[in-house]
Amino acid sequence: MKYLKFSYKNEKAIGILENDHVYPLQSNGSWIKNMISYIESPCGTRGQGISIEDVKILSPIEYPRRNIICLGKNYKEHALEMKGKITDAVVVPDAPIYFSKACYKTIGHGETITGHKGVSDMVDYEVELAIIIGKEGLNIGKDQVRDHIFGYTIANDVSARDLQKNHFQWLKGKSLDGFCPLGPVIIERDDVAYPPALDIKCYVNDELRQDAKTDDLIFDIDTIVSDLSKGMTLLPGDIILTGTPSGVGMGFKPPKYLSSGDVIKCEIEHIGRLINTLD
Ligand code: MG
Repeated sequence: MKYLKFSYKNEKAIGILENDHVYPLQSNGSWIKNMISYIESPCGTRGQGISIEDVKILSPIEYPRRNIICLGKNYKEHALEMKGKITDAVVVPDAPIYFSKACYKTIGHGETITGHKGVSDMVDYEVELAIIIGKEGLNIGKDQVRDHIFGYTIANDVSARDLQKNHFQWLKGKSLDGFCPLGPVIIERDDVAYPPALDIKCYVNDELRQDAKTDDLIFDIDTIVSDLSKGMTLLPGDIILTGTPSGVGMGFKPPKYLSSGDVIKCEIEHIGRLINTLD
């Protein structure tokens, strides 16, 4: 099942995407609007289908309940391409590197990414598989992780490299407004093999920049979720970005940062394409 959030005739709702039609989820005759509430307690019935052409796709979780949790340097080739670029600390980490994106509002497929000219001159892209937590958990054993996952979506961990470097800590450079495109859908966990081993790609203006598999991780999903949940409760709707493969703009010589008008297409097999343009 593929879940999405959309707007139609000035009303927002969540729904199921099937055969190019969106089926709004409804409860007591009204459309369900909040994906996190739905993930917490799935309920409702399918409303009448609407052609995908007639709706505007929104981010599946427009307003995350708290910061988005991210993995740094979780693909070996990416860790190597970033060697010495942001910090001189570890190259390939021995333990997961966590940071967060402070994110008041994520943006959806088709929305414009603000480039924040005058704030950053080094805006970069990072395609990532995002885990959506489905069930609250503390100290989750590795063998229990699968049960705590609702599904997966695509994220673009847009990054201001100059701010990452200047402020030492990554929070600011990762958290500018609009720097978290998400979607277009959340695919249910059991719609793909576990752990997902899917093609993950990013194109900038149709030039393939990133190309890997989602299981090519230094720390796999069982390790990430289990380790994060040690002493820290994970909640339904929590979003965890599993890291980006090599091929980010900063990794090229000379670097290929984004410019105004660039179209960034993030793609993961079976989930879809998340396409955004930089303003
Ligand atoms: Mg990232």
